[in-house]
Amino acid sequence: MKKLFIGTNLKMFKNIEQTVSFLRDLQERTKGVPRSEMCLFVIPSYTALESATKSVSQDSIKLGAQNMHWESQGPFTGEISPLMLKELHLDIIEVGHSERRQLLGETDYGVNKKVLSACAHGFTALLCVGETGEQKDAGLSEETLATQLKIGLLKFPPDQLDKVWIAYEPAWAIGATGIPASPEYANAMHKVIKQTLKKTFGDRADTIPVLYGGSVNYENSSSLIVQEAIDGLFIGRAAWEAEAFTKIIDQVLPLWKTKILAKV
Ligand code: PEP
Repeated sequence: MKKLFIGTNLKMFKNIEQTVSFLRDLQERTKGVPRSEMCLFVIPSYTALESATKSVSQDSIKLGAQNMHWESQGPFTGEISPLMLKELHLDIIEVGHSERRQLLGETDYGVNKKVLSACAHGFTALLCVGETGEQKDAGLSEETLATQLKIGLLKFPPDQLDKVWIAYEPAWAIGATGIPASPEYANAMHKVIKQTLKKTFGDRADTIPVLYGGSVNYENSSSLIVQEAIDGLFIGRAAWEAEAFTKIIDQVLPLWKTKILAKV
């Protein structure tokens, strides 16, 4: 069965102790859920990564970093290299989160270098794309997504596409001031993303999971996961307590299974 992808980015929240306790609690609460049905992942801050890898099994919870420089080493003060992250045996590198694009000047071409480097070093690249509120209001959502995907995945080796996940996270939907996308709008944008990937990579793109993120919570998670083109959820605030995160998982997994079985 096609797995449900569900995870959280802890952003610049939780210290080492809080991260470890969150992960252990989440692992314990979700131990009854077969990982053949669900890929569960958590992306902690850099300082908590090493302790995180020692505190849970990555067969149970995959771990990732929130960013990475594309070079293996060099005079890049303050940056973290793929070789450093490889030492931690992580699975995932998140690239191009809208906060990094908007607040830290990350460009599509920089994102592309990071995606290619993540792939070359054996990580799964979780490429975040999404339009700003201004782009949406100007009717530029579809063009923006296509551009971010085409540049973000420029020269990506097609035989490595099983190492790419996409998160559709409209910038206007993210964070405390965000307004969640309606399930219908999110589904339409997921379709645009899937069409763009298909045009670029052909049928090989069919394996790439596309996750929705942006003010997902217990209340709206069901109506999002039943949408045809949504393959998973990438959740922020609503997943930062293990109990609340598990409640969302327990609610959406049966809906996901029903949707997938209906497609067969
Ligand atoms: C995010 O920042 O990636 C995110 C999805 O956050 P939130 O769910 O808190 O809007």
